[in-house]
Amino acid sequence: MAKPQPVVIEPWFSPRIWGTRDLRPFYPPLPDGADPVGEAWLTAPYCRVAGAGETLEAWWRRESAAWNEPADSRAEFPFLIKLLFPKDFLSIQVHPDDSYAALHGLGRGKTEMWHMLAVEPGAKLALNLVPGAEIQHLAAACRAGGGAAAQLLAWHEPAPGDTYFVPAGTVHALGPGLVILEVQQPSDNTFRLDDYGRVDASGRPRELHLEAGLEVAHARTAAGLLPRSTSGPLIQCPYFQVSRLEAKTEDAIPLPAAFCTIVPVAGQWRLKNGPRLPLAHAAIPPAQGGQELVGQGVAIQVGPGVPDAARSRTGSSPVAP
Ligand SMILES: [Zn+2]
Repeated sequence: MAKPQPVVIEPWFSPRIWGTRDLRPFYPPLPDGADPVGEAWLTAPYCRVAGAGETLEAWWRRESAAWNEPADSRAEFPFLIKLLFPKDFLSIQVHPDDSYAALHGLGRGKTEMWHMLAVEPGAKLALNLVPGAEIQHLAAACRAGGGAAAQLLAWHEPAPGDTYFVPAGTVHALGPGLVILEVQQPSDNTFRLDDYGRVDASGRPRELHLEAGLEVAHARTAAGLLPRSTSGPLIQCPYFQVSRLEAKTEDAIPLPAAFCTIVPVAGQWRLKNGPRLPLAHAAIPPAQGGQELVGQGVAIQVGPGVPDAARSRTGSSPVAP
């Protein structure tokens, strides 16, 4: 029998002012003088399929039918996986939901999930406003600018292995000293509310989107820490499902017969009888199903959203705790 050949996607690196040149242990460090990288996009449409010279978008248009993926997802890979490397604070921001995005010609909304791969002591992230703070207080702080809005946010100190759900409409921020695997809807709709008064190399501030951002922001949503799982499902929502796979020895882990993407994040992984999967790259097992993943370390498995999961962890409806 032919060896099972996964499709491996080459990451695309996005420079950001809050990024770093030291991407170890996930990727080789960048040379001095290179723009710091903030994000590695593992499943962007323009990512290349390793060894094929073809984009993921072109590959997915052709191959999604083999997985019986619904026609409406065929044009676009169903989720975006990224690694984030913040070495400075990201802007305080919010993403629209599907209905706002559709109404304003912006495509899709952006619900996301963060899994902590590395956490330096004291590193922190923010989700939602502190109790008692409302959107009008946020609006006043954002208009004052210079990072004033940070005082209204509920900050958390995550631990490695923690996972946070961040539905559209959640006011959020990430601090330095984290390495995060993010899974999100395939959308780049970000409304920046406060950028701490920073300017770029040419002395210009990054654009803020106060009007739209304050329109979609909720004071409090269902955002928060998800139950921990060393090896098993982390979340199912209408936009993606994510599991963490952990093996101490060369365990064989059966993969679902449905379409999924595997991202090794620690240790060594391969398909049974197949080639080794590169660290921090998205790999897609072959479409015949019945594959087994063999390795030791940690890998993240991501699949398309589950429409029926809408009621368990809602994608975008705000829930006041
Ligand atoms: Zn975000």
